[in-house]
This record gives sequence, structure tokens and C-alpha cells, in this order.
Amino acid sequence: MNKNTFLFLALASIFSTYSQTPGISIFYEQTPGDNRGYIEYIPGNLPIIISAPHGGVKLSGNTIGEVNYPDNDTSLPDRNCGTNERDDNTDILIREIQAEIFNLTGCYAHIIINNLHRSKLDPNREIVEATCGDNDAEDHWNAFHNFIDQASNSVETNWGKGLFIDLHGQSHSIARIELGYNISSTQLNNSNLNDTSIINNSTINNLVANNLGGLTHEQLIRGSESLGSKLKATTATFYNNNINPGCGVTNGYRTIPSNFDSGASNSCDDTRPFNFAYFAGDYYNNLRHGSGPAASDGTGGSGNIDGIMSEVNRRVRDLGTYNGNVYDTRPQTLVPFAKDYAAVILDYIDIHYNNFADFSFGLSSYDVNDSDPTATISGIAGGTFSSTNGLVIDSNSGVIDLSASNVGDYTITYSVGNCSYYQTTQNISITDATLKVNESIIKTFNIYPNPTSSMLYFEASSSINKIQIYNTLGQQLGNYSFNTSKGEIDTSRLPDGMYLLKVIEKNNNVLITKQLLKINK
Ligand SMILES: [Zn+2]
Repeated sequence: MNKNTFLFLALASIFSTYSQTPGISIFYEQTPGDNRGYIEYIPGNLPIIISAPHGGVKLSGNTIGEVNYPDNDTSLPDRNCGTNERDDNTDILIREIQAEIFNLTGCYAHIIINNLHRSKLDPNREIVEATCGDNDAEDHWNAFHNFIDQASNSVETNWGKGLFIDLHGQSHSIARIELGYNISSTQLNNSNLNDTSIINNSTINNLVANNLGGLTHEQLIRGSESLGSKLKATTATFYNNNINPGCGVTNGYRTIPSNFDSGASNSCDDTRPFNFAYFAGDYYNNLRHGSGPAASDGTGGSGNIDGIMSEVNRRVRDLGTYNGNVYDTRPQTLVPFAKDYAAVILDYIDIHYNNFADFSFGLSSYDVNDSDPTATISGIAGGTFSSTNGLVIDSNSGVIDLSASNVGDYTITYSVGNCSYYQTTQNISITDATLKVNESIIKTFNIYPNPTSSMLYFEASSSINKIQIYNTLGQQLGNYSFNTSKGEIDTSRLPDGMYLLKVIEKNNNVLITKQLLKINK
């Protein structure tokens, strides 16, 4: 978006974001107390925004899923321009995708839904065609885009970058998902997508410049790490057992563009559309809210939030019986698809965007007598540090208090965002040079039986002060004090596996280590 738009939205959002709670619907109120629920925003806390402009059922005058939606609001007459065809069930699909993202992450994608039937409002067109000049419809159109702008502002502020998906449905003869990047069929058919003019027009223009793997535009559109190829690479067993996608395909969702090409015919080559029907993502929403050129009315474009128009085929939107209501008589593909789609979107963000919680300590090992080290944050500042038990770290600054920490191996975690899904870890060892490993001082230290299933006995040639048990992750699971050369430890509560014993001899401050195998007899 351009600077003026951004400034306006930044100001607007100050007034309207205070009551936003992730996962809780907000509805546009044309006048205070308006409870018609036409334009809906469910705020999120992930760098993902999804909108569904054409799934609305309200004022359709139709019965859908056994519920009638009367056409009873005289303030919104039927549009007498443009197209009225609804993208069936995308209003439900978008909610199921958000629910599955929450299920997988504990966090929410931002979703914006036009609950009005397309015969009343088409938010994916410039305002004139969207409303056919109706003043009330214009208010709802503005509300829809203001909600997306609020979501974009939140993502820019909290994450610095993100992905916008405009979710649609089509019924083209080849059952595949069509992803649109404002690249035409002709360009996909003929051109090298790395041409500067094509990149400048792409709604993932920001991603080309900033993707973590340094991939080219061509690779991002139809290489193995593209969204299309990721949708094709997912298993999708239920879908393929119930739908025949053709071309010998038995798994994944055929998607254009992707890297799938069966070689059988042009209709089995999903790398380019040839002359088959294909939505290129050159409509209003994707342009206004993606990172390419501005929309036709001059608003939006640029910025750090990429746009992908996602036109999913009819056969991933079958509901059968849903929430007790009969929508159609087909096997329900929509919910399994929503689950797969959610997982693929998260994977796509991980691959191309997620350096959100990157941090590093300069070394992987410190002595308790070193000066306290600080983490260098290369991801987003303001997150929270934590550690496995025994290492003392400042949760805000990431400074390790070495002298207050125990000798051992630790995992330090840095998490960002208010729901802590994005986090990274680093393993750090803390040593004490004054504890010299010198097995010769303890002439013998034996443990038996090894492997053990419960009691572990030890015998040493001198008195033992401490035995600590660590797992292979470096987590301390036991810390036993003794004043004897002979003793026992009950290991029956330990899960089966390999452990490390650290043994500290009493008088000579000696540290030795032994491997222990715990088995369940
Ligand atoms: Zn549509």
C-alpha cells in the first residue's frame, strides 16, 4: 500500500483495534447497534490474512444447507451490474481453515468474510462495479476493505511481513486449485517468470525480494517450494479416494501453477494453463492487499504482505451433511481439504517467511566464570527467552547469569508473538573449569546392573557427593546427594532410554560421566 493509505489506516486502526480479540468476530455496524452481521472480521495473531468475498448467503433469497436467507433488506437492492455467482461454501471453508490453523498452532489467522450474497455486494471489484452505485452497499464495501487493512496493519506491525489469501471457488472443467499472482496465462505459457516486468507486476513481489531461501520468482510460482507444489505434495487421501482428479493422480491436490506435469497431455500439465480456464489473480482484492502494483483505483499494492488469489475447485467444497444440515449428497471433502490447506499454508510460511524468532549466542558453551553473554536477536525484538531448568536467563534481554547457573546442558527458547507459536531454540552448555575430569582420582566408579529396569547400584573407590541424571536432550531428570562410596538410585520412574550420569566425588571436586541404559523388563 502507498504511504498515504498506510498513514490513514494506521490512524484509523488506533480507533478501531482496541476491542479486537483474536478468534472473536467483529461485525461492521453501519449505524450503532447494527446486528445484521453482513461484514465480519475475526482478528488473528499470525502473519496470515484470508478473505472470502463471494461466499455470502445473506439476502440471497435462497435456502442453503436447509436454512432460508430471505431477501428482506430494502437498503440493499440486487446489483444491476457485474456478476452475481456465489462461490459456494467458501464462507464455511474460510472458517474451517482458521479453525484448523488454531488447532495446529494455538493461534489465529485473520479472516474477513462478506456474509452478503454477491447479488448485493461484490467486494472483489472496484467500488463502482462492486456496489453498482448503491450508497449503502458502498458502506459495506468500505467496511470489508477496512477490515483487511486493519489486519494488514496488525501483521505489518507485529511481524513485518506476511501473506494475504483471497479465497474463491470455481467450477472449471479440470478439477484443480488455481493460484493467481497477477501473472497472465500468456506469461505463464510463454515467459520466463524472472523477467523484471513480470516480477514488478507480481502480487508476491515482496517475497521475491525477501524469501528466506533466495528463490527466484519462477521457483516461487511453480518450483518444488511453491504453494501450488506444496498443495500437490500433501497426501489428501480422503479427497483422492472420493474424487478422480485425472492424469493418474492419486494423491495431493492438483494445483495450477505447480510443478506437476504427468506428460500425458496439456490438460495434465499443471505448470501452465495453455488455453484452459484459469484465474490469474488480477482482480481487485489481490492487487489492493498484495505486494504488487496498486489496484485499479490506485489504492494498495507494494508493502510486505504478499497476495495470492486462491480459486479452489468445486470438488474440495462439498459439504454433504454439515452441522446436522444437508447441503448436498456428496462425500464431505470441504473439512478434510480445510485441514490440509491450513497445514500447507503454515508450511509455506515456515519455508519462506519464518525467521521471526531467530536468535543466537556467539558460543555454544560457556564457563561459569565467563562474563555473562547476551543473545543477539535477528528476528523480531520483544519476545521472551526461557531455558530448561538450571540455567538462569533474563526473559526479556536474553542475558545468561552464568554464575547463578548450574553446570550442565540446556535448551534455550526464544518465542515471539502473543501466542508463542513462532519460536526457536539453541543448545548451550555451561561448564566449570574448576571441575576437572580426572577419573584417576576416583580409581573406580561402577554401576550395576546396566542396563537396569529399576534399582541402580554404585560402588566407588572414594566418597561420592552427587549423582545427576541427564537425558540425551541435556535435561536434568534427577539430582541425588550422597556421602558414601556405595549406594543406590531408584530409576523405575525414568522412561526407557539412554541417560548420562554425572558423578561428583566429594573431596576432590572430580566430575566423571557414565552412560546408563534404562529398559523396562
Ligand atoms: Zn470469487
